[in-house]
Amino acid sequence: MTDEFTTEIYYDDDADESVLADRTVAVLGYGSQGHAHAQNLADSGVDVIVGLRKGSSSRKEAEADGLEVATPVEAASRADTVSVLVPDTVQPAVYEAIEDELEAGDTLQFAHGFNIHYGQIEPDPEVNVTMVAPKSPGHLVRRTYKRGEGVPGLIAVYQDATGDAKEQALAYAKGVGCTRAGVIETSFQEETETDLFGEQAVLCGGVTELMKQGYETLVDAGYSPEMAYFECMNEMKLIVDLIYEGGLMEMWNSVSDTAEYGGLTRGKEVVDDDARENMEEVLRQVQDGEFAREWITENQTNRPSYKQLRQAEEDHDIEDVGGRLRELFAWGEQQKEEVPADD
Ligand code: NAD
Ligand code: MG
Ligand code: MG
Ligand code: MG
Ligand code: MG
Repeated sequence: MTDEFTTEIYYDDDADESVLADRTVAVLGYGSQGHAHAQNLADSGVDVIVGLRKGSSSRKEAEADGLEVATPVEAASRADTVSVLVPDTVQPAVYEAIEDELEAGDTLQFAHGFNIHYGQIEPDPEVNVTMVAPKSPGHLVRRTYKRGEGVPGLIAVYQDATGDAKEQALAYAKGVGCTRAGVIETSFQEETETDLFGEQAVLCGGVTELMKQGYETLVDAGYSPEMAYFECMNEMKLIVDLIYEGGLMEMWNSVSDTAEYGGLTRGKEVVDDDARENMEEVLRQVQDGEFAREWITENQTNRPSYKQLRQAEEDHDIEDVGGRLRELFAWGEQQKEEVPADD
């Protein structure tokens, strides 16, 4: 490995906020990302208007936060930059409603590339299409900004109609606080495919299957569910925290030599060449659009598989045992108190 990164990292000095000075930014949606982008941009001096449906329960919240609220159509019509921060599955319908409000030179801005990359939204070539994706849940985007810090982020340009789409994305990233921490440039394709693969194979899908399979293996062999829960689920956080702080070696250095030797030898037996081939198959389905088509159809048909899988997960024994143990042990309550309410 060289000590050079393959990509440049952009900081505050690389972004010129004046690029947004004469643009009004409409933030559509006031959820996890929306509330953070809208408030951070406004605090950074950007002219922001929040677009929400007439009956939306978020309207009061946005107004209480001192922001102007209009319908998505009105907000888009007044804006020069439209930031689409409603859930990915409803973005195509929201886009259809606001499409006619976009003029040549306007910017359509996303925090994830799914709908553009898989062709669910096809903007006019005269409109800029950009992405600013904070690599963090929205409440941390807001909380770190208020502390004078920021979370790292990605920028990407899919269409550059005005010649300064990248500068606009950098200015937006600065407005939400990301250039305080560092921003890297990617493409809609790379962001979408790596995001989907990561959450499916490793972060959300891989980790939960590993936990459940480990738990079931112990319980089926006659060990107590409580022990199995602690070993296969609860301790995961402690291990991941060490890796997050200092990489694999900090974790290996912190566990016993027995755990280290056992892990280094047996880990490969569990997550073996077959698992690697399965990962490659999951990646193929992301790359050739098979997963996207499946998920789009699922949403068009009232989510039958999604509902069934979600119910099975909720009904899994590990949820029951874990729920009761987390209630009993003092750390459960403590942890809840440590999580501050959303800004
Ligand atoms: P969310 O589910 O938290 O919030 C969506 C908001 O959209 C709701 O609060 C509501 O105000 C509005 N909304 C919901 N349904 C609507 C409808 N039918 N019409 C109009 N408005 C509606 O969404 P989110 O998690 O903030 O995701 C927004 C975007 O940010 C997505 O593209 C997502 O992939 C991306 N993203 C999210 C995170 C994250 O941590 N949540 C991180 C990076 C990127
Ligand atoms: Mg407009
Ligand atoms: Mg994702
Ligand atoms: Mg142990
Ligand atoms: Mg041990």
